[in-house]
Amino acid sequence: MREYRLYIDGQFVESASKKTFDSINPFNQEIVARVSLAGIDDAQHAIAAARKAFDNGPWQRMSKEERSALIKAVSDKINERKSGFEQLEVDDSGGTIRKVKEDVYLSARAMNYFSKLAAMDPFEPVDGLSKPGFSQNLVVREPIGVVAAIIPWNFPLKMAVWKLGPALAAGNTVVLKPSELTPVTAMELANIFHEVGFPPGVVNIVPGYGSDVGEELAGNPMVDKVSFTGSTTIGKRVMSLASESLKKCTLECGGKSANIILDDADLSIAVDGALYAIFYHQGQCCEAGTRLFLPEKLHDEFVARMIETTKKMKLGDPKDPSTDNGPVISAKQRDRILGYIAGGVKQGAKVALGGSTPKDPALRNGFFVEPTILTGVDNTMTIAQEEIFGPVLSVITYKSVEDAVAKANDTVYGLGGGVWSRDREKAMTVARQLRAGTVWINEWHLISEKAPFGGYKQSGIGREFGVEGLREYMETKHLHIDELGSREKKFWYDTVVPKS
Ligand code: NAD
Repeated sequence: MREYRLYIDGQFVESASKKTFDSINPFNQEIVARVSLAGIDDAQHAIAAARKAFDNGPWQRMSKEERSALIKAVSDKINERKSGFEQLEVDDSGGTIRKVKEDVYLSARAMNYFSKLAAMDPFEPVDGLSKPGFSQNLVVREPIGVVAAIIPWNFPLKMAVWKLGPALAAGNTVVLKPSELTPVTAMELANIFHEVGFPPGVVNIVPGYGSDVGEELAGNPMVDKVSFTGSTTIGKRVMSLASESLKKCTLECGGKSANIILDDADLSIAVDGALYAIFYHQGQCCEAGTRLFLPEKLHDEFVARMIETTKKMKLGDPKDPSTDNGPVISAKQRDRILGYIAGGVKQGAKVALGGSTPKDPALRNGFFVEPTILTGVDNTMTIAQEEIFGPVLSVITYKSVEDAVAKANDTVYGLGGGVWSRDREKAMTVARQLRAGTVWINEWHLISEKAPFGGYKQSGIGREFGVEGLREYMETKHLHIDELGSREKKFWYDTVVPKS
């Protein structure tokens, strides 16, 4: 059986308690790997290693070009081992092979991009502060220190890369906690960081539970910044723990994104687009288009066309390239999703398609939920307000575009959104009115490591990706360098220097 140990201070070690846990394949419930289970002691050990590596190790003394080359080497290794990563990610997360191939490719690409950010000049001149020649003023971007990164299970490799890449590019040291449900590809990354020669303690990976390891990482005063991706509930808890030592926080949390179909949308694209927005990776995406807003006059045709296409989707073994939808991550998650569907029906929604677990005996060992379309949904219902994180679409009708925008924004979340129209101007006007961090026009899910991503409202704090994302991992220093060279000409000379 595949086994992994914690990666702390450049060494692969058993946990202090010697405990392990098994990571389970959500398609067949077989054990994917046995993994050392980190506890609070191990988290503290990893934090101390990261602290030492930041304060006294070679990482800070390396040139930015040397750090960049190490990060680039990680990208190259992910590419070299892509088929191994793909197989493991499918087994560990239940993502279909077609989706996971994209994830591995995008992870290597993102790491390559972050290696370029690592080589950026940290100095920027401040213009217009004083007359030229009197002083030189610079903004200097510096690493924050020790970063604790906590990630969820839905895109395990991508999430790990999206935290480690920018944190390291900015010059920090990191302790990463993968989700206890999907630790495997993060542990494979540990092997790569080790092999390419990262100095000990710069990267530490400690799989364990949120209730102990996660809380320790969020609260420990030796950590300078917490970068968290996960649910809004846990994000709030992380922020409150981090507040004790006033740590910097980036929180990438939940969503309930609105997908607005305008009456002039090209249905030959918009129907498939709406299905992609919700059913991609079984709806287990923070930015999923979970609420579909249809003009009343398009409702029946649009729903009928969605049903026709969804019926053709194949639920199956995620390793089989002909499978469109795999399992959800766990039995607990499956039951939670089914509970939301039942609650929606109780509140008056109608199951237009799906709504249950599939009957196919070949799927009986997997945690499957049928792709589900609920119609007659009112935006105030629980299914329209709470994050289900499964393949469940809530269809809501609207009377006017103003009505659609008002309902779309009537949520505590603000992560993503979409508008479908043939008229670019019209779509732009609606897109600007949506209170969300990313809005797609005639598209969905396209997140790039080069463009900022994050949430308005309770979907999060801060942004990931691009230069904006890099700066979330940096402190900003103003450096004022005097160029007068004469005591008498100083601004303060007349103010404080005794004249006699
Ligand atoms: P979760 O909040 O349950 O867990 C996320 C991580 O936090 C896990 O590693 C978990 O072990 C850890 N954790 C749990 N309790 C903790 C605690 N008390 N202190 C510190 N850490 C703790 O989320 P999940 O179920 O793993 O993932 C699904 C959620 O993630 C959804 O809400 C989804 O919207 C969100 N998500 C957001 C984004 C984004 O970019 N905004 C991306 C992916 C997923």
